[in-house]
Amino acid sequence: MMNFYVMTLFPEMVMGGLNNSIIKRAMEKELISIQAVNIRDYTLDKHNKVDDYPFGGGAGMLMQAQPVYDCYKAVLEMCPNDEKKPRVLYMSPQGKTFNQEMAKELAKEEYLIFLCGHYEGIDQRVLDKMEVEEVSIGDYVLTGGEFPAMVMIDTISRLVPGVLNNDDSAVEESFSGKLLEYPQYTRPEIWEDMAVPPVLMSGHHKNIEKWRLEMAIENTKQKRPDLYEEYLKESEE
Ligand code: SAM
Repeated sequence: MMNFYVMTLFPEMVMGGLNNSIIKRAMEKELISIQAVNIRDYTLDKHNKVDDYPFGGGAGMLMQAQPVYDCYKAVLEMCPNDEKKPRVLYMSPQGKTFNQEMAKELAKEEYLIFLCGHYEGIDQRVLDKMEVEEVSIGDYVLTGGEFPAMVMIDTISRLVPGVLNNDDSAVEESFSGKLLEYPQYTRPEIWEDMAVPPVLMSGHHKNIEKWRLEMAIENTKQKRPDLYEEYLKESEE
């Protein structure tokens, strides 16, 4: 079972975003668990404050070390994991860019802790103390780490055995190898005068497989020439 813990100032946002559809079903089947833990619950400030001005000046506010660290200690207590310290992923535009490879690697863990920053980020000292791994979801800046954590949890959860009804769906799709997926069609056979490619109606599995591979190659060549080059190199080896 995969257990996700999300340290955030907006737990309802995280649970609201994830407690739907396939991920909701996976939680109900106890294939994964997701707990959003409110960092604000751990502040010792009497006004419940969790942020302050950055030393040295500059725009915006920073999340303070104390509430983040006390929240982290509470989360560690929730993970009954004596053997090794769970990995802590700090959502950060400065991190290594998340991709399907990283998702596959993370899906092997039993516990993952996500730390979501907000405002201008988090006091560096607590990030150092917690030995976080910084992960970005792309070269742009969001207002908080909640969407990045949701993106990563959704992606990783799909790779946990049993989460998708048919395990093949994760094996065949885009980024599982070097090629993007082929185009797909469903009923009706003719829609707005457009017919489904006849080979898919033939019942001839070998031909269907061959067509799908050709289309996947063409799709990749058109949409992602960089991946197509990698595919060519790999096929030559
Ligand atoms: N001042 C920070 C910097 O320049 O690196 C940016 C802070 S950002 C406004 C606030 C929070 O959003 C970050 O602490 C991080 O948790 C999250 N965040 C923003 N963009 C992100 C991205 N591309 N990937 C992952 N997390 C991101």
